[in-house]
Amino acid sequence: KSFLDFKFPKGLQMALDEKGISKPSPIQMQGIPAILSGRDLIGIAYTGSGKTLVFVLPIIMFSLEQEKRLPFTRDEGPYGLIVVPSRELAKQIQENVEYFTSHLRREGMPELRSCLAIGGVPASESMDVIRRGVHIMVATPGRLIDMLNKKMVTLDVCRFLCLDEADRMIDMGFEDDMRTIFSYFKAQRQTLLFSATMPKKIQNFARSALVKPITVNV
Ligand code: AMP
Repeated sequence: KSFLDFKFPKGLQMALDEKGISKPSPIQMQGIPAILSGRDLIGIAYTGSGKTLVFVLPIIMFSLEQEKRLPFTRDEGPYGLIVVPSRELAKQIQENVEYFTSHLRREGMPELRSCLAIGGVPASESMDVIRRGVHIMVATPGRLIDMLNKKMVTLDVCRFLCLDEADRMIDMGFEDDMRTIFSYFKAQRQTLLFSATMPKKIQNFARSALVKPITVNV
């Protein structure tokens, strides 16, 4: 099995090649097709399993399809939202998103914009991107809710949500914040939840947040 089998657009494939990534890891092999087919997914996986690409590549594909169908004309978006427990993780993920979207653009695909919504980064920085229309947002719960409350951004067209390190977010007391974030969604959404562990508490949370999820345990 190779990444070529996923038949990603040229820019994405070139970006993978450049990183020397050719063979999907177990979670990628199982998770990517499930997500591309539109299913909700629970991924039980540690850092190092390759889980980041499991949500980054499909969220980019999803945004690309949306952008082709209906290009942004103003401050719309995000289509896809990734919520994580820490600023550091958010930055890493957005760098990944930027890496792949810039390769796509270089190969003639539409520009996909991403931004951070995290503490410590002036909201004005994110606003520059949001005003042009942002496809993918990577956020920590506190700053995102603050921006939602202030109507600096909406989730009106957002249809793709990924919660990464969900166990850490629940341990840090972000469960109510996550539910607040859910309440801002207007459209039906596809939801992914990644967690290193799956105690009862997370299972119950996942049951309330996801619809008929596929579980991938690696
Ligand atoms: P993650 O578990 O998502 O934090 O990924 C850990 C590291 O593995 C990152 O540096 C990725 O670039 C790299 N990686 C992800 N998928 C693969 C793969 N299929 N083959 C080789 N390296 C990979």
